[in-house]
Amino acid sequence: MRSGKQVFADAKGDEEAMKALMFYGPGDVRLEEVERPKPGPGEVLVEIKAALTCGTDKKAYKRGHPKMKPPTPFGHELAGVVAEVGPGVEGFSVGQRVVPANSSPCNHCFYCRRGHPELCKNIEYLFGAYAEYIVIPPRIVEKNLLPIPDGVTFKQAALVEPLACVVHGIDRSNIQLGDIVCIIGHGPIGLMMTRLAKLRGAKVIVVGRNPFKLEKARQFGADELVDITAVSDPVEAVRSLTPGGRGVDVAIEAVGLPETWEEAIAVVRQGGLVNLFAGCKPGTSIKLDTRRLHYDELAIIGVYHHTPRYVRTALSLISNGWIDADALITHEMPLEKVEEAFKLLLTEKKALKIAIIP
Ligand SMILES: [Zn+2]
Ligand SMILES: [Zn+2]
Repeated sequence: MRSGKQVFADAKGDEEAMKALMFYGPGDVRLEEVERPKPGPGEVLVEIKAALTCGTDKKAYKRGHPKMKPPTPFGHELAGVVAEVGPGVEGFSVGQRVVPANSSPCNHCFYCRRGHPELCKNIEYLFGAYAEYIVIPPRIVEKNLLPIPDGVTFKQAALVEPLACVVHGIDRSNIQLGDIVCIIGHGPIGLMMTRLAKLRGAKVIVVGRNPFKLEKARQFGADELVDITAVSDPVEAVRSLTPGGRGVDVAIEAVGLPETWEEAIAVVRQGGLVNLFAGCKPGTSIKLDTRRLHYDELAIIGVYHHTPRYVRTALSLISNGWIDADALITHEMPLEKVEEAFKLLLTEKKALKIAIIP
């Protein structure tokens, strides 16, 4: 047994073994044969049917992740079937199709009680989506393990976690009918933001540089595209698409770079809202014009993660057909090729999310 509660024991007998991807550090992931875990009291063992790659995984593979202490199981977007139910679990049975969120709040800390469970001081995270099985801990079983509605595939259901973050981001952006919204970034998050901003009745301008992804943005509802490789000043290009060049009502940054954070602030009108949604590298900072912030009455917010309520909203949106999950999944690979999947995400311009099928 290696150190760490979530690390599996080495496999002994073949029957109880399973394959799981372990993260050892940047550029170092290993598919290992480990013991298939047994669900304890309150826990549920899920046989994973589909996992999705995520921007966070890509970043972790490239440069590590502050919340991941190696060696640790890897991946957090998954859907599957209940394989075994631990003692005392109610409401779940073997064979049931389920999707877990990747975390659960405690409900009793200061932030949970203040209505911000995404900031929970005792939040419990779940890693290990790139594996054949995963044990869902009691708190996630209780609060964030959802049955998959009929007609929703495992791959589609696995989109619940990132979509829940996006639903949270849109909910906090205060978009009004008829607003002009600028989304900077056209990865899976930017594309889902685009779609949900359209559902809120906005005209949407998407800013990016990748022709394939700009075309996807169009499919997800973008009214205007700004290709930064084709304009000299992206901020002016966005402003020129608003009446009198006044700027957009809401800007959402979905890239995670200080430069694009500054751009998001630069494209909003007086009284506009800036949602700095994508996290930047630790230790980075941005320049802020104090005059603009004060006299232009800008509202600048950060939005992190999701809550149990948004996890449920996300599954409804997928199940009701409001979000085309399949259009975000550009590739499919077996578990054995998961490392290849990360490399592909880092190099292939036509890759969005990759479904990993154990
Ligand atoms: Zn994710
Ligand atoms: Zn809490």
